[in-house]
Amino acid sequence: MSTAAITYLTMLFLSLIMAGAMAIGWARFGRPRHALSWSIAYGLYAVALLAAGIGSAVAPLHPLLSLLALVSMLVSAALLVVGARQRAGLPEWRWQLSIAAALMLALSLGIGRFPAAAPFSWLTASLFTLIMLPFVIAAIAPRGRSPDAAEWALIVTLCAFTLFESTFIVSSLASALHPGDARLHALYTNIYLIGLMPIFVANGIAAMLLLASDLAAELRALASHDPLTGVLNRRGFQEAAVRAIANGRRQRQAIAVAIADIDHFKSINDRFGHTVGDRTLDYICARLASGLRTGDLVGRIGGEEFALLLVNSTAEQAVQAVERIRVEVATGFSDDGAPVPVTVSFGVAAVNTGTAHLESIMAEALDEADHALYRSKLDGRNRTTLADAA
Ligand code: GH3
Ligand code: MG
Ligand code: MG
Repeated sequence: MSTAAITYLTMLFLSLIMAGAMAIGWARFGRPRHALSWSIAYGLYAVALLAAGIGSAVAPLHPLLSLLALVSMLVSAALLVVGARQRAGLPEWRWQLSIAAALMLALSLGIGRFPAAAPFSWLTASLFTLIMLPFVIAAIAPRGRSPDAAEWALIVTLCAFTLFESTFIVSSLASALHPGDARLHALYTNIYLIGLMPIFVANGIAAMLLLASDLAAELRALASHDPLTGVLNRRGFQEAAVRAIANGRRQRQAIAVAIADIDHFKSINDRFGHTVGDRTLDYICARLASGLRTGDLVGRIGGEEFALLLVNSTAEQAVQAVERIRVEVATGFSDDGAPVPVTVSFGVAAVNTGTAHLESIMAEALDEADHALYRSKLDGRNRTTLADAA
């Protein structure tokens, strides 16, 4: 069997394995649509290899099968972009990509086969893949934060793939323009044979890692957030607060905590119903979150009780911040046009970032804030009390 035939068969098995792995990833990792798109892309790559292989062995079928191979390759490359954009929540560009693939097909058929050395139009397919890859990379790179390890892995392997496709295209063009040059032909074949499989496997592993890593991030977010309001839950707040205190200790910055409790929330439920009660919780959380700075924390630590952590803030500055929120909350919340009167009481305490154990520092500060909150309730509610004054 020739080296080319062995490569074809190995690539065929590899793409079937990847198509299967992606399909399992889709089924077991919460059915992300991009996993399905990528599974189909690998499947179509296998179809292309099979069609090209059979076409080169059975002469009468060659024209039809090489057309099938080319179309499968073009759609497969376009699906890589579709999947990456689905993952990023961007428009899928179905029309734009279909038109681009159709143009590429027309170009390939119109000017006849490029004088490529491979048995079917690998060159057109590779050129199209090369055009698609930067769009895949751009969609994998996250907006507004730096890529995580799995995203980096896929970006790096995709860049290697891009480099491989460019080298492959240049060497195959050079080899086609100088058909008699055995050295160029060997270069082209070697680049292809040596580069294709490792890059293909690396891309597949990186894509699977990304599926798993996305799922893990989603589960972590679920475990640390409150589903009703979207803010941190008690556990998420605790973990994030300990990190913030450790950070504040390192940077010698003041940190303050506050506890907020909705006043007479039971009567809001009784008068307006539980659904309005839930919307009130949502309203309060939105006010708390928008009234604080990025880096500050909001957590729902009880039914209608919230913990706040303000970084780089003294207790006095924290009092000013929560007072602004308290006044804003008290201006009211309307549910379907009907006003729902709601107020919140606060207790504020400084965090003594000293040298003690981080968890006990946190617990002590929250205890102080809780006592201050109790004072606010006793003093008539809808007010803020600072722990020292309490
Ligand atoms: P106070 O001003 O003293 O804090 O009075 P309060 O009524 O707010 O306090 P209390 O602890 O007596 O009642 C809290 C109420 O919060 C009782 C409970 O039904 C309600 N609650 C707790 N969790 C939820 C929730 O998820 N949704 C809704 N709608 N109500 C909740
Ligand atoms: Mg309450
Ligand atoms: Mg309460």
